[in-house]
Amino acid sequence: MKRSLIKKLDKSWADKIKEYGMCEKCHKTKPLNAHHFYSRSIRAVRWNIDNGFCLCVGCHVFSSKFSAHKTPAEFVEWAIEKRGIQWYEAVKEKKNKVVKFIDKDYDEIILTLKQKSFKF
Ligand SMILES: [Zn+2]
Repeated sequence: MKRSLIKKLDKSWADKIKEYGMCEKCHKTKPLNAHHFYSRSIRAVRWNIDNGFCLCVGCHVFSSKFSAHKTPAEFVEWAIEKRGIQWYEAVKEKKNKVVKFIDKDYDEIILTLKQKSFKF
């Protein structure tokens, strides 16, 4: 798969997540990051909106009191409380699927990211 296409998909995904406009945890409006709930190394959910959280840099990586990267267990607990167990089960199931993308799938992902609104 082409590196440039991966970049394009990553950017579309991150832009879509950041459309939320504020940190989902503390409501700060900038600077915002798009966080992958399940690692982006898992291709099956790398560009899935349900796998994304809009977070400020503090809640994403820096805060040692609470952040997705420094206190991952607390983050997961908070995420499930916020979005519900059904969200968690659904995204978990998706990430466990073996997915083989073909070229037209990527076009579809980009289209979906353009259309679908980020609902959380
Ligand atoms: Zn925050």
